[in-house]
Amino acid sequence: MFSLDKLLRENIKNAKPYSSARDEYKGKEGIFLDANENPYGSAATGDFNRYPDPLQWEIKGILSNIKRVEPEKIFLGNGSDEPIDLIIRMVCRPGKDNIIILPPTYGMYEVSAAISDVEIRQVPLTEDYQLRPEEILKTVDENTKVIFICSPNNPTGNIMNKKDVEQILKGFNGIVVVDEAYIDFAPSSSFLSELDQFPNLIVLQTLSKAWGMAGLRLGMAFASKEIISVYNKIKYPYNINIATQQFVKEGLLNILNKEKMVAQILEQREKLGEELKKLSFVSKVYPSDANFLLVKMDKAPKIFEFLIGNKIITRDRSKVRLCEDSIRISVGTEKENEALMKKLSEWKG
Ligand SMILES: *Cc1c(COP(=O)(O)O)cnc(C)c1O
Repeated sequence: MFSLDKLLRENIKNAKPYSSARDEYKGKEGIFLDANENPYGSAATGDFNRYPDPLQWEIKGILSNIKRVEPEKIFLGNGSDEPIDLIIRMVCRPGKDNIIILPPTYGMYEVSAAISDVEIRQVPLTEDYQLRPEEILKTVDENTKVIFICSPNNPTGNIMNKKDVEQILKGFNGIVVVDEAYIDFAPSSSFLSELDQFPNLIVLQTLSKAWGMAGLRLGMAFASKEIISVYNKIKYPYNINIATQQFVKEGLLNILNKEKMVAQILEQREKLGEELKKLSFVSKVYPSDANFLLVKMDKAPKIFEFLIGNKIITRDRSKVRLCEDSIRISVGTEKENEALMKKLSEWKG
């Protein structure tokens, strides 16, 4: 049986959240002499002199409609990095507990765990980049607190088999994080619809990829009200600034813009994949459910350098286990992809 209460660190259970000046009075009108703000305005152009809403209810209201998840089941962070880091600090005792990651995968899970002095256990993906649920569950011990599943996975691009993810959710009494940073580019559905079925599930999404708001830093965690209330208790009080809240609100109301861009990126992804396959030194273009392609080729590190020399920057993944000889290429605009293909056609290995 999953019990958040049993999972939480003792100090987190006992922690009292910071009580901000704005917690005591909920009204919008009034003479605010409580938070030591500047009453005259801001040195910058814009209404920035007041502290932002600590719980970002306006944005959560809009997100709730888009995602069909209650606002109380949403946590917003400074990028996805914040909910990743906070979940580790919420349940993992430094020097005692461990997390499981499934490489090759996103680097931040490991970085956050290491900073918190939390052991990292690794269960590599299969050759075709799928999960090994049996092995993963065998690797769990009484100190395993979190399993991170990235789907679609970075850097391999594929979505994980739903049955395998569910097997892990059912077989593990700790937290299962399903990182869906690239879900808007995938044909299959999100795990958001399974939130009520699995009290140990946290789904991560972000505005950094499909929504085109990487610079604003807004990551989302969706989970039970219980998990979200602990997130809210331990986060920085004003973790999402006013400028981000304003621009994000505008962006979320332009969902058609996002959908148009996603359609363009998907079209370009297919085209770029086909073109890359025609190159003699490319041995494989992995199928992608994301906005990038993992491409296997002869002399990958040399080609990566050659591209850099031509001011085309890709990501060399050739030193990553199971990604040998591969580089990861983000899908660009039509023009950018053409420039990439032109340079690659000039490559003389
Ligand atoms: C890009 C990415 C994120 C998003 O990170 P942000 O901090 O929200 O910008 C999260 N997870 C994975 C796997 C990613 O590739």
